[in-house]
Amino acid sequence: MMLIDPHAHMISRTTNDYEAMAKSGVVAVIEPAFWVGQPRTHVGSYEDYLSHIIGFERFRAGQFGVRHYCTVGLNSKEANNEALAEGVMDLLPRFALKDGVVAIGEIGYDEQTELEDKYYRAQLDLAKELELPVMIHTPHRDKRRGTTRSMDVAEEHSMDPSMIVVDHNNEETVREVLDRGYWAAFSIYPSTKMGNARMVEILREYGAERIIVDSACDWGISEPLGVFKTAKLALESGIPKEQVEMACYANALSAYGQSGQMSEDDWLNPPAIDQRTVYEGNSILRGGRDPLVEDTVKPSGGDSMLIE
Ligand SMILES: [Zn+2]
Repeated sequence: MMLIDPHAHMISRTTNDYEAMAKSGVVAVIEPAFWVGQPRTHVGSYEDYLSHIIGFERFRAGQFGVRHYCTVGLNSKEANNEALAEGVMDLLPRFALKDGVVAIGEIGYDEQTELEDKYYRAQLDLAKELELPVMIHTPHRDKRRGTTRSMDVAEEHSMDPSMIVVDHNNEETVREVLDRGYWAAFSIYPSTKMGNARMVEILREYGAERIIVDSACDWGISEPLGVFKTAKLALESGIPKEQVEMACYANALSAYGQSGQMSEDDWLNPPAIDQRTVYEGNSILRGGRDPLVEDTVKPSGGDSMLIE
């Protein structure tokens, strides 16, 4: 089964993770712009981060046969540094229009401060102006109120719920998010957010319409195979295959495909892997390692006819 992991901070992960994800069936990942484990103190750091997830990280994923997309946005934690936030807001329109950018995100609330609210609203306006989907990060603390407020504010800005993915849901928030017409994403994150057994019960109760599963793997203890392990457990638990495919593949494509930047053809007819290639002079290979080079032309029989 083909899988999409629509929330994965791959910049923090290893090449082993890419290999394991590709082997498990992940054909595409979406890397949301977020914070990097500690606050950035200069706009320039943010600018380089955005170019990194749009540039080298995309190249790196491709070297393992995984298509890489990203979202750009000012995250809620760093929205609380007003000088930084103003600088980032100036950068965003330029980055949002680059190839492979499928949404403005992840944006929303963390501690639900006034500055978070100000920049969340400004970025909703930007998404609307650019006709891009939005990925909303809902807060870990006071989640229910934060989730409701995120949707209330989106509606104040006349956003269409079908253009918005509300992420990091749980049993407390899912009903309202679905009832209001939004996409409801779930981060399968060990011990803190949502385990895959709980996710299977949600699929059983709500079906898979507008439900999206992601790993949200990042710098912390997290699981890059979260989508695969959830799909597997769901199938073993009797969730119909069509529903598993919707939640672990098709819905993410429908939601983020609205950007016009992501289509099935990207991974059904991908460029051949050639690890000899470089990105601005930089390779993923380290000394002495043999590059993986796929044949673009498939052998047409007689493949042992060796001519040397
Ligand atoms: Zn995230």
